[in-house]
Amino acid sequence: DTAHGVILYLDDVTVSFDGFRALNKLNLEIEVGELRCIIGPNGAGKTTMMDVITGKTRPTSGSAYFGQTMDLSRMSEPEIATAGIGRKFQRPTVFEQHTVFENLELAIRMDKGVRRTLFARLDTAQRDRIAGVLRLVRLHGHENRLAGLLSHGQKQWLEIGMLLMQEPQLLLLDEPVAGMSDAETARTAELLNELRGKHSIVVVEHDMGFVAEIAQQGKVTVLHEGSVLAQGRMDQVQADDKVIEVYLGR
Ligand code: ADP
Repeated sequence: DTAHGVILYLDDVTVSFDGFRALNKLNLEIEVGELRCIIGPNGAGKTTMMDVITGKTRPTSGSAYFGQTMDLSRMSEPEIATAGIGRKFQRPTVFEQHTVFENLELAIRMDKGVRRTLFARLDTAQRDRIAGVLRLVRLHGHENRLAGLLSHGQKQWLEIGMLLMQEPQLLLLDEPVAGMSDAETARTAELLNELRGKHSIVVVEHDMGFVAEIAQQGKVTVLHEGSVLAQGRMDQVQADDKVIEVYLGR
């Protein structure tokens, strides 16, 4: 077990909307290579937290650090994306009229500046990376299909693949299994378990069965009213009286 340090650190982050605190002195520390699940009831502040990390929302007070030195609260959304934080939103946003392969190719080019590289040929290393990602996201053999013809789950995997092409240092996944079939959800859990340790990943998710599948070796953080209610292994969190009350109490 090697200590790699902290990749993301939220230090007393508060976000107020007209006096209402969507985040209330939130503290969070994510280690390099960790797969962290964030759960919590509706309105707990999960989306606002993701928005702060990606620069979409500025903290009213407190700070967010990426790595040792980068103060996210002073950076713009594009600067944060370029620095290596990739976010996947709930709805897939793939290029439907392009093939699976072309989508992954476009993801490489977006990373390098589309205009500059649009007509350049992919080199062998880039082709190998696409092949590797295709296998990882369960789309091997589908590379020539139009993305618009994929199932909902396959589109979600393709989008994860597109993010991976950009080699993010931190991957943020917003409810990755929303709308998926049981079989697709199970395959997504496998996929994330394969990414474990190789990437630093934060997953916000409602589906408790899915969280249990991917949180076996990792930590779960429960948000409530904008701060951390409980944190630990899934079995510890599930047995926590405060957590049970928040989920079942009203
Ligand atoms: P979650 O994603 O956990 O459901 P959110 O982060 O979306 O929670 O929301 C947390 C709280 O902040 C909710 O009560 C929500 O109504 C409120 N909120 C979120 N965004 C805004 C906004 N732009 N203006 C006012 N209130 C907001």
